[in-house]
Amino acid sequence: MRLSELETGQTGIIIKILGHGAFRKRVIEMGFVKGHPVKVLLHAPLKDPIKYSIMGYNVSLRASEAALIEVMPVDSEQEAQQLNGNGTTESESLSRELENISRTINVALIGNPNCGKTSLFNIASGAKEHVGNYSGVTVDAKTGRFEHRGYHFNIIDLPGTYSLTSYSPEELYVRNYLRDKTPDVIINVADASNLERNLYLTTELIDMDHSMVIALNMYDELRRDGTSLDYNTLGKMIGVPMVPVVARTGEGIGPLFDEVIEVFEGRNKAVRHIHVSLGNDIENALRLIIDAIKANKDIDRHFSPRYLAIKLLEGDKDTAARIARISGGDEILQLSRRLADELNRVHGDDVASVIASAKYGFIAGALHETMEPGERTKENTSHIIDAFVTNKLFGFPLFFLIMFGIFWLTFSLGQYPMDWIESGVAWLSETVQNLMSDGPLKDLVADGIIGGVGGVIVFLPNILILYFCISFMEDSGYMARAAFIMDKVMHRIGLHGKSFIPLVMGFGCNVPAIMATRSIESRSSRLITILINPFMSCSARLPIYVLLAGTFFPTHSALVFMCMYVLGILVAVVTAKMLRRFFFTTDETPFVMELPPYRLPTMKASLRHTWAKGQQYLRKMGGTILVASIIVWALNYFPLHDSDNTTADTTTASAAVADDNAIDFNRDSYLQMLGKAVNPVMEPIGFHWRATVAALAGVPAKEIVVSTLGVLYTNDDEVSDARLGERLTAPSHITGKPDFTPASAMAFMIFILLYCPCIATVVAISRESGSWRWGAFAMLYNTLVAWLVAFGAYRVMLLF
Ligand code: GDP
Ligand code: MG
Repeated sequence: MRLSELETGQTGIIIKILGHGAFRKRVIEMGFVKGHPVKVLLHAPLKDPIKYSIMGYNVSLRASEAALIEVMPVDSEQEAQQLNGNGTTESESLSRELENISRTINVALIGNPNCGKTSLFNIASGAKEHVGNYSGVTVDAKTGRFEHRGYHFNIIDLPGTYSLTSYSPEELYVRNYLRDKTPDVIINVADASNLERNLYLTTELIDMDHSMVIALNMYDELRRDGTSLDYNTLGKMIGVPMVPVVARTGEGIGPLFDEVIEVFEGRNKAVRHIHVSLGNDIENALRLIIDAIKANKDIDRHFSPRYLAIKLLEGDKDTAARIARISGGDEILQLSRRLADELNRVHGDDVASVIASAKYGFIAGALHETMEPGERTKENTSHIIDAFVTNKLFGFPLFFLIMFGIFWLTFSLGQYPMDWIESGVAWLSETVQNLMSDGPLKDLVADGIIGGVGGVIVFLPNILILYFCISFMEDSGYMARAAFIMDKVMHRIGLHGKSFIPLVMGFGCNVPAIMATRSIESRSSRLITILINPFMSCSARLPIYVLLAGTFFPTHSALVFMCMYVLGILVAVVTAKMLRRFFFTTDETPFVMELPPYRLPTMKASLRHTWAKGQQYLRKMGGTILVASIIVWALNYFPLHDSDNTTADTTTASAAVADDNAIDFNRDSYLQMLGKAVNPVMEPIGFHWRATVAALAGVPAKEIVVSTLGVLYTNDDEVSDARLGERLTAPSHITGKPDFTPASAMAFMIFILLYCPCIATVVAISRESGSWRWGAFAMLYNTLVAWLVAFGAYRVMLLF
């Protein structure tokens, strides 16, 4: 009997909770635990929700939720209490009945046609159903019952299906069965000798979030092929226990039902709900639909919101019709139709088939890691390419060649548009100079806005090219292979191959890279990947290397460049190892790296992905960088000092000659004062106050560092025409020495590489880690590390 069927004043003992995993967990947390009495306080027909009293609390449930809780009615509350103590004979018979009911497990066999379900059904239940080596033998469901280890099993043999869409009557039958009868445990029967295809249905069952055990049937054939399968690891990866069986002989049937009991009682540690990752576009769309589904209280709780959302995106008619009948369902349908249309357009392909190939990619990835195919297994093209691409010998060189090619393309090809934009900005600045009349407003527009933002916008082509290459690699399926190749290396630092992609993306911009860590299932791996991401030298830091390496190490600039990237990676590695050691104990949860089929990406999809990533950058330019440039400009512009005053007052001027680092309230701008105040901390690493100012200005966005240097080194009239590099090496007319030396330039580059991430990155870290503490940690830790490494490098450089 279901809880929703009890009437006001009646009491029942909870026997089990049906429905999908997340729903069960929530209801159990509310106090609906097996064996506990629950009393109906108020159940007016047609009135939702219903009020219950459980464990001394009053809670309310929707009728649709209460319909998923199985109870055994008892006459009174006293009787329910007696069940727990050692009561009378009457309560003894009752507790026996309760015991009986709660030891009944309803099991459904679900699998592809011809995978051996009926054979398994027969051998388990002792029935003699017809078995045939062709599809469609089982037209409707057969039920049987048997005992195993003190449990009563009701087992049902469902028609064979390849998926759970509503294309065929069989599929609809199975789905409706799962909805209306909600079996306690599903046995997903899979043909072990044909796993790639059979596991597709499994991914759909995983979406449903249902208690499940996989029977790897026909294991004899897998053995005969010489294939070896690490089914324990595979089961842990997908969160569903697997048991090899040979239904024809009965081998492994005992262990299979032992496992079913373990799962039923919630004792199996391998059981967890994973998300079969469907790629960023689709996951983003799904998140919107899932939120809409969760917000609607009338949608029944038999299926998980994720499953429903996927079905809606796929355009499943039956699911859509059911949702349409619910109040508020139309909005959900409109939303999902709109998102599906958009995805169709972008991929140039039907969403349903994009989802299907993502699922096959998931399966291929899982099997690549756990299955060693025997000689008899046939090869297909993806397998042949993979054998080469992920080969121990060729994999790495090929990978580095591709990475090198991408960086080369980014910088050499990017040079052309970069030059165009540079001359465009120069023209704009000149026009403003000529058109506007002198005054603070002209200075603001010309120096503050055009100078600040213009200095940054020139790097947009580089960033777009880099993003295009990354998107191309992702969409073609190569990036997934790169993750495979890097998996072993990443394991050495306590991470996973999946962390690799966000780290590569970090070379472009850390913000989308940190968001890309969402595909990493393990929380600790994800956090570590997020925290070490700022050490991947993003493109905003590039202008600084271009300027300083070109000026101070003109003959070795490429080498210095490389060293910066490598240093960043080294610090990331050390940090990851330390975080793993001191903050997060190793987590061994294996998870699947998808191996999507190779595909030539459509131009549309690649451009769109490039654009999505580039947008972030443009938004930063129009927001943070614009505001920061204006603030830096204003701090450097104000307070306005009376120029007559300074020339007349020769004593203050000579004092400044004696000590350039002292704050001079009569001549200094706010920015200069700030730099000079902070400078004592930075002096040990060779910083002049102007360097300190530039570093401070770089906190909102690292692009500001170079433009700030530009602003700071235009004040001296004699060298104002020279290029910025020459201005940096020119001796200061106050101290007689240049502000930057090769050693201090090196320390400066290192400091900028490693110190406090930009504001956008700190926000991304805080948001993605779910706590501002990690954002604060990154600011403090990175700055400390930057100072220490810069100090070391500076002192070593001084020796030469
Ligand atoms: P169903 O369509 O899923 O119900 O599959 P059946 O139970 O009708 O079995 C299909 C075919 O597979 C039959 O010829 C069975 O004899 C054969 N079969 C079932 N289980 C096994 C097994 O474990 N090993 C082998 N080699 N064949 C099996
Ligand atoms: Mg059958």
